[in-house]
Amino acid sequence: MRVLLVEDERYLAEAVARILEKNNYDVDLSFDGEDGLDNALSGVYDIVLLDIMLPKMDGISLLKHLREKGIATPVILLTAKGETEDKVLGLDSGADDYLPKPFKTEELLARMRAVSRRRGELLPEGILEFGDIELNPIKLVLSKGDKSYNLTLKESRLLEYLISNKGASLSVDAIIEKVWGYDSEAEDNHVQVYISFLRKKLTGLGSNVRIKNIRNVGYVLIAEDRAQV
Ligand code: CA
Repeated sequence: MRVLLVEDERYLAEAVARILEKNNYDVDLSFDGEDGLDNALSGVYDIVLLDIMLPKMDGISLLKHLREKGIATPVILLTAKGETEDKVLGLDSGADDYLPKPFKTEELLARMRAVSRRRGELLPEGILEFGDIELNPIKLVLSKGDKSYNLTLKESRLLEYLISNKGASLSVDAIIEKVWGYDSEAEDNHVQVYISFLRKKLTGLGSNVRIKNIRNVGYVLIAEDRAQV
């Protein structure tokens, strides 16, 4: 899961980022509203954590711009004391939840899980299902029935992206942007290598899920019908 944290208090932002990274989230930071909006408009994030009082552009305006541009990424507002009116305005402007500062780590993680769940992408424990497999993107475990494999963070992120776009062909560029980050140096062969790691694990599980190559396009995740195998 990729998270954008827009927070101008650098010390707090970096502390929160470290905690999220420990919990296997991939975190990008923006320290002002304009940079935050630029990043959020990319649409590559699974969640945006948004402070309200920010230099250059406040969080509520950022959120309004984001929703006007049709970006539906879940947003959790981080509200300081005395910002209750902003909080209400924020929820009216399309925020999914708010969290008063200071907050406990567990509370933040719980809200993030709840917001993702409400968006319908995740099952109760954050587990994704497709075909006969389950992916736990928090614990990095791929399983079918009682057989399971541990995944690396990149493998998990790649599979998560494929599952959330199941049936759609995904270009190598889109995969690199989503899984490695848009400023990364990852190349096409990185994707190939990780796809082959995942295929080996899917085969090892005896799964009906296949990652198919689409020539000159990229990859698509499908579940084969057992009757036709
Ligand atoms: Ca602030």
